[in-house]
Amino acid sequence: MVSRAKIKELMNESACSHNKEKKKGEGCDMPKPGMAAGGCAFDGAQISLFPYADAVHLVHGPQTCLGASWETRETLSSYSGRNHTVMGFTTGITTNDVIFGGDKRLSSSIDYIVEHYAPEAIFVYSTCVTAMVGDDIDMTCKEASEKHAIPVVPVHAPGFVGGKNLGSRLAGEAVLEHLIGTKEPEFTTPYDINLIGDYNVTGDMWEYLPLFEKIGIRVLSSLSGDGRVGNIRTAHRAKLNVIVCAKSLITLCRKMQENYAIPWVSVSFYGKRDTSFAIMEIVHALGDETLIQKAKEVIAEEEAKLEEKLLPYKKLFAGKKAVLNTGGNKAWSIASGLQDLGIEVVATSVRKSTAEDKEKAREYLGEEGILMMAPASEQSKIIDEKNADILLAGGRSLYTAIKKKISFIDVNQEKKVSYGGYNGLLNLAEDLKYAFSNPVFANVSKKAPWEAQ
Ligand code: SF4
Repeated sequence: MVSRAKIKELMNESACSHNKEKKKGEGCDMPKPGMAAGGCAFDGAQISLFPYADAVHLVHGPQTCLGASWETRETLSSYSGRNHTVMGFTTGITTNDVIFGGDKRLSSSIDYIVEHYAPEAIFVYSTCVTAMVGDDIDMTCKEASEKHAIPVVPVHAPGFVGGKNLGSRLAGEAVLEHLIGTKEPEFTTPYDINLIGDYNVTGDMWEYLPLFEKIGIRVLSSLSGDGRVGNIRTAHRAKLNVIVCAKSLITLCRKMQENYAIPWVSVSFYGKRDTSFAIMEIVHALGDETLIQKAKEVIAEEEAKLEEKLLPYKKLFAGKKAVLNTGGNKAWSIASGLQDLGIEVVATSVRKSTAEDKEKAREYLGEEGILMMAPASEQSKIIDEKNADILLAGGRSLYTAIKKKISFIDVNQEKKVSYGGYNGLLNLAEDLKYAFSNPVFANVSKKAPWEAQ
């Protein structure tokens, strides 16, 4: 069961820059009525752990909860065994279970899963109904874990406790409590890192992992993009935690620093400058002079190759202006990628950004750049005033671009290709090229031929 104290602790994370902005006692992500409309805590928890394809993700609740977030993101996996995430698993509790308790149903569901699917682990997610009924998920998971000799991890993030961000933090707590430190790695190196918070959406990680390999950095475990349960259990032996884009897992990193003395750095792999900066941050944190030299060589080589490939795109994009409406640290990281391509970013949305992200957005956009706090109402006006050529946003903003007759790219999780690493910048350039030359944005808002007469 998730306690009030745990929620309070997670909402007042000392290492999180959200809190520096707020008044005493007013932490991050306070549950508010309607908050689950943007994704409930259970959604956030499942999104954070779902990339573990070698595990079964069992939703203990009504069938409808499962549908809320199952397979909503294109998180890719290279797992060669049976990918358990292509199936949705739920105990599908009924009125009977609400009256008599759902523990027995949960226990027999776990038995059935082990017998028929043989996963490496099972994550059991509590939901609003099973949390309110008071099912003892901890006990059922503990007994099942002993009986089947695999980790059966209770994830206490019922929707009513808050939004997606809090759910992600609670998922991190579950991993820390039940998995990390439960197994020793076969071997270690001085260059072992954990990747935290990259879910490998559209294969983002695969764009920069080859660079790590060239330099000699080893990824010991990942939470959770293309992750394996067996590896995250050994995460306590890494030399560094690298948070990629997800501030929600900052609590996990802070606690790993306290418990295992593992320092952490926070980086982004969008755009040329940020990819190079991220690599240097990692090697400097690992503190090995040979590794630093190797990283410098690899960066110089990769940047030179990239610049050559980008030349024709930069000619095409000269003088173009963009408005960016996306969330969190993408407010500045995608802006940085666009600037690397020679596009002027005239405005970016910082509605969901931390104080740190806002500072970085200001740094990247300069004093003239607009930081939008209410992008839904501001972006239209800014497109007109600044004469923007393209809007990069989530799918819901497509209509704004069509109305304004400018190009549009979906840069949220619905996107189909990766923009990560140096290669990802080429993918972004290619998408921009097609968006700028796509006649649909100008044609779609024209009057029909019979109306024009
Ligand atoms: S956990 Fe609660 S808020 Fe989330 S989908 Fe289920 S019922 Fe809805």
